[in-house]
Parts: sequence; structure tokens; C-alpha cells
Amino acid sequence: MTAVMNADLHCHSVVSDGTLTPEELAERAAGNGVELWALTDHDEIGGQHRAAAAARANGMKYLTGTEISVTFAGETVHIVGLGFDAGDTRMLEGLTATRGGREARAREMAAQLAQVGIPGAYEGALKYVGNPELISRTHFARFLVEVGACKDTPEVFRKYLTEGKPGYVPHRWASLKDAVQWITLGGGIAVIAHPARYKFTANEEYALFSEFKAHGGRGVEVVTGSHTAAEATRYAGTAKEFGLAASRGSDFHSPDESHTDLGKLPPLPEGLTPVWELLADRIR
Ligand code: AMP
Ligand code: MN
Ligand code: MN
Ligand code: MN
Repeated sequence: MTAVMNADLHCHSVVSDGTLTPEELAERAAGNGVELWALTDHDEIGGQHRAAAAARANGMKYLTGTEISVTFAGETVHIVGLGFDAGDTRMLEGLTATRGGREARAREMAAQLAQVGIPGAYEGALKYVGNPELISRTHFARFLVEVGACKDTPEVFRKYLTEGKPGYVPHRWASLKDAVQWITLGGGIAVIAHPARYKFTANEEYALFSEFKAHGGRGVEVVTGSHTAAEATRYAGTAKEFGLAASRGSDFHSPDESHTDLGKLPPLPEGLTPVWELLADRIR
């Protein structure tokens, strides 16, 4: 394993809010030259056995993965877990608790959308859901595009479903400490996902990174489908400042929606420790 290997350690299947199965993703990743892969469904590890088997069938190495929703300083932050034991009950119970509340939230989102003239959004979103415990804003976005309320999902997130817009329902997710612990107690590494996406002040971001580190977090996504080249450079600096390893992942959700395909990412900037070097004994 070298720093330049084609690792893609962030993507989603129908087990959360992606549109491809774990097997379809594995085939696509391998076809795009991915050598080390992780499926990181939101708040769910139900696809891990299938993904590991499909990675093997397609000649890729595999790390277990998930992307945990966390509430920090009133904002939603995503923590990617890599290389943990997928049978660990602390992780399983933690994720079950994190998923709880998504249905009630979804019903409230639909009620708000009905008030602005978009009826039937709960049932409409449900048609896109692969896992009934994981109804997400992405599924609502697909329904809003289907009924012509918006032309694509980015427009949905500009006009609806985000703070101050119709269909936004605040939600309390896992704590940062719990998420990092579920990952690390199972032998994995916790990684701050796509840090440039959060709307934090400099002080809040510093608090996120220092508290994450204090709880045992060890990595940050530097190269992701959510970052520009300038943002990757910036968070390479943050990784060095905080002594964190660097991760790389497309955050691929769907051939129709995702602008970064599996494995189609620049290499990590020089001088960083790739997370996969710390996870050598967890790779299958
Ligand atoms: P939820 O976990 O239900 O709050 O849904 C969050 C998901 O919505 C993310 O994982 C993304 O897949 C999607 N999402 C959030 N913001 C945007 C955006 N601006 N554009 C496209 N997709 C987004
Ligand atoms: Mn998503
Ligand atoms: Mn995310
Ligand atoms: Mn993601």
C-alpha cells in the first residue's frame, strides 16, 4: 500500500441514500481502477458483508465503513468510520439509536412541504427508499425533482430541506464522542468527513478538530468529491496541524446525481499519512 494507491473510502448504496446496490458499486469502482474500497452508508452497516464479498469478487481490497450523523455546535457533522469490527454490538446499537427518529422527522418534513403546496411527499420519498429505517433528505429531493418542484437535487437543497427553507426539520443526531468511540472501540479509525461543507466559524471548526482528537479521532477527509482543489490543500494543512491521517473518497451516491465518480479523484497531497497506512491490519 502506497500513498498513491487508488483508495475510495466514501460512498453510498441503496442501504442508505445511494441508488446502486453494493454489488453494482463494487463493479463500478473496480472498473474505474479502485484498489481499496469502503462502502460508507449513512448510520447503517447492513451492506458490509455484501460489499466485502463484492470487493473480493472484483479484485479490490476492502475496509469496513459507515458515515455517522453527529450533532456538534448545533450543526450536523458527518464522521466516517473505517476498518471497525462490523459485528461489534456497541456500533450496532449506536447506529440503531441514531437511525431512530428519522421516520418522525420525515413525516414532519412532509407536513411542511404540504403547507407550501407539495402534498404526498412522505409517500413520494418512500418510493425511493431502499431501507425503511433510513429515509433521508436525499429521498425527498428525488421526489421533489420527480414532481417538477425543482430541476435537480442541488436546487432542492437550495430551495427546500435546509435551514430556513420549507421542509427543514432540525434533528439531534449522535454525539461526537459516542460516534468516535463506537468506531474506535471496534478497532477502527474515525475520520471527519468533508470538513469544508460545514458552516462553522474558525473557532467552531477549531473546537470540532480538537474535541474530535481528544475523543480519539485520527483522520480527516482531505480529498473528497465535496472539496475543491483549494479546499483539499487547506485541509491538508489542518491534517498536519492536528496530527491527523488523511482520507480520500468520492462520496458517490448515484450515476445521475454525483459529479465525482468512484475512484475519479486526485491523489492525496504530499507529506500526509494516508488513513490506509494506519489500517493495514484491518484491510480484507
Ligand atoms: P439527512 O441525513 O436525511 O439529513 O440527509 C443528508 C443527505 O442529503 C446527505 O448525505 C447528502 O446525500 C444529501 N445532501 C445534503 N446537502 C446536499 C446538497 N446541498 N446537495 C445535494 N445533496 C445534499
Ligand atoms: Mn447522502
Ligand atoms: Mn456526508
Ligand atoms: Mn457521504
